Amino acid sequence: MINKPRGTEDVLPKDSGLWQKVENIARETAGLFGYKEIRTPVFESTELFQRGVGDTTDVVQKEMYTFEDKGGRSITLKPEGTACLVRSYIENSLYANPQPTKLMYIIPCFRYEKPQSGRLREFHQFGIECFGAENPTTDAEVISLASMFLKNAGVKNVKLNINSIGCPECRGKYNESLKNYFNSNKGELCETCLERLEKNPMRILDCKSPVCSKIAENAPKMIDYLCEECSNHFESVKARLDKMGIEYFVNPDIVRGLDYYTKTVFEFTSDALGAQSTVCGGGRYSGLVEELGGKPAEGIGFAVGLERLILIIKSQNEDAEVTKTPDIFFATIGENAEAEAQKLIYELRKMGVYAEQDLCGRSVKAQMKYADKLGAKYSVVLGDDEVAKGVANLKNMTDGETKEIKINPDEIVKEIK
Ligand code: ATP
Ligand code: MG
Repeated sequence: MINKPRGTEDVLPKDSGLWQKVENIARETAGLFGYKEIRTPVFESTELFQRGVGDTTDVVQKEMYTFEDKGGRSITLKPEGTACLVRSYIENSLYANPQPTKLMYIIPCFRYEKPQSGRLREFHQFGIECFGAENPTTDAEVISLASMFLKNAGVKNVKLNINSIGCPECRGKYNESLKNYFNSNKGELCETCLERLEKNPMRILDCKSPVCSKIAENAPKMIDYLCEECSNHFESVKARLDKMGIEYFVNPDIVRGLDYYTKTVFEFTSDALGAQSTVCGGGRYSGLVEELGGKPAEGIGFAVGLERLILIIKSQNEDAEVTKTPDIFFATIGENAEAEAQKLIYELRKMGVYAEQDLCGRSVKAQMKYADKLGAKYSVVLGDDEVAKGVANLKNMTDGETKEIKINPDEIVKEIK
């Protein structure tokens, strides 16, 4: 027997209904905010992520699925969506349309991580990006979209944490004081963080090692170093969230795992998830479009981890599973009735009715048991007699009541709808 690779999951039919529901809610909610779906390749040039995610991040340093293809190119399975969308935005000149450009995506992501509940090597994200808008109204709109989506998907008790990590200007001063702080704890930092100390000390704040994160707890906070513009921007975002009645907590410890963020960053967390508590993360970035070869443009977006979202929904709703049950089941006696039923079912399906019959040669009694198992709402038993007369008994499977009806698709639809 061959098993699935470690850190991957099969979405089985009992769960795919809930997945489809969540994906539909994502598309619908994003649509209300003007976001259009974009689909980009599952693999990209490795360089895109080295430059677009940042080569001091865990994602690029430790987690990428990178390989050489038969033509000798370095290829990487996408570990996230933002860099891919920026590439596409530039390559397809989407900036030439009236701005902003509002894009949504649902994608598989690949990261070589230590698999555990809510942490997989292949997982899925619903995300959005908005390019070409820099005012704080945009930040508040993006956050309100994430909040509305989570609510519409049936998630309760998520906490919205927001922070500002400033711009390159105010970060210079901050990085200096961070370096000073971590230099005084240099002996205890992990090897990766020692390297980060010189290149990008803020990354240390995001290290998952218990020792480094303990040291990081008392490090200086970016929010105390914001320049006037960043500070005003953050105040406006908060004021707009207040106005819309969206509750948030300012959490100075949020820095986000990817290199490109500036100003507003945010995360939605849930107690239902245990250690992997972040279900949605996002923020504003300003240098990324330029970094990837485009004319400077601001971006802001978020990504929701769909496996984590579905874990929360299931833990909070006992009846979370979405199973489609037949509108009507035809039990048949004999070959002639079976063929008649098939034709009738074909007509009903054309009319959008979910109709079923037995395909495994069951007895009539077993067919009725099967109809019950499937959760059919109505059933009809067809034998030669019924076919000859053109009438049969329609049974309501919920209350057991029966009614004589004509065997004709229009008649049946009228009775069961
Ligand atoms: P974490 O701190 O949990 O590693 P992250 O900061 O690496 O998360 P992002 O890159 O911001 O995550 O991705 C956005 C969302 O995607 C996360 O909030 C989470 O819900 C989901 N996610 C990230 N990595 C994984 C994974 N390995 N397995 C399942 N979901 C994931
Ligand atoms: Mg991570």
